[in-house]
Amino acid sequence: MEIKRVIDGVYWLNGKRRTLVTKSAYSDKPVYGEKIFKYEGKIYREWVPYRSKFAAAFYRGLNGVDIRDSYKVLYLGASSGTTVSHVSDIVGVNGQIYAVEIAEEMAVSLVLLSEERKNIFPIVDDARKPENYSSIVPKCDILYQDVAQRDQTGIFIKNSDIFLKSGKIGMFAIKTRSIDVSLEPREVIRNETQKLKSKFDVIKSIDLYPYQKDHSLLILRKK
Ligand code: SAM
Repeated sequence: MEIKRVIDGVYWLNGKRRTLVTKSAYSDKPVYGEKIFKYEGKIYREWVPYRSKFAAAFYRGLNGVDIRDSYKVLYLGASSGTTVSHVSDIVGVNGQIYAVEIAEEMAVSLVLLSEERKNIFPIVDDARKPENYSSIVPKCDILYQDVAQRDQTGIFIKNSDIFLKSGKIGMFAIKTRSIDVSLEPREVIRNETQKLKSKFDVIKSIDLYPYQKDHSLLILRKK
């Protein structure tokens, strides 16, 4: 087996097949049933592209993005914490992830996860109302959003205005069908990108098919 670093905490394990993994910053136990690999005394967790849009972006050709050890991340649409747990590996024990989730039943697992992974700060709230958590969340190095709502672009802009440092990266998982089912996905992406252009430089737009249907991940740099 051979290991190749992609970004801090993220690697390709090249064995019989190519597998994306994150180096566990915490325990050697799986978080949500993912496969665990041991390599040269370190623990790696499989990051499956069908379970995470961020992972799918690497399988679709993303080979670098400015997220690294010790970064502060605002994560909107954390759900039970599947992707959050891998972001927790990337930013490591000195990083911070402010994980916002509106659904209480999802947030239960997220809160349990945060008890073990001390770099996760769960916030059970509505990402449409960033003023509710502006006293808790500091200026961040990354804004990651995956909320699948009709007004997702507005939510992203509102949060980035308050929390994202200028020059830093926004990662926006757009679900095109949540915005307009009648339009071609490409057209939805073009319209939404247009709304973002006054505030962001668009670095990449990655179609996540076949791992995630009707989704693209936009990588943006705040002006
Ligand atoms: N990002 C997660 C992952 O990869 O593990 C999956 C996120 S899931 C597709 C979308 C989540 O966004 C759901 O858990 C949903 O409850 C949450 N959500 C939807 N609208 C929201 C809002 N206004 N504020 C916060 N969370 C929201």
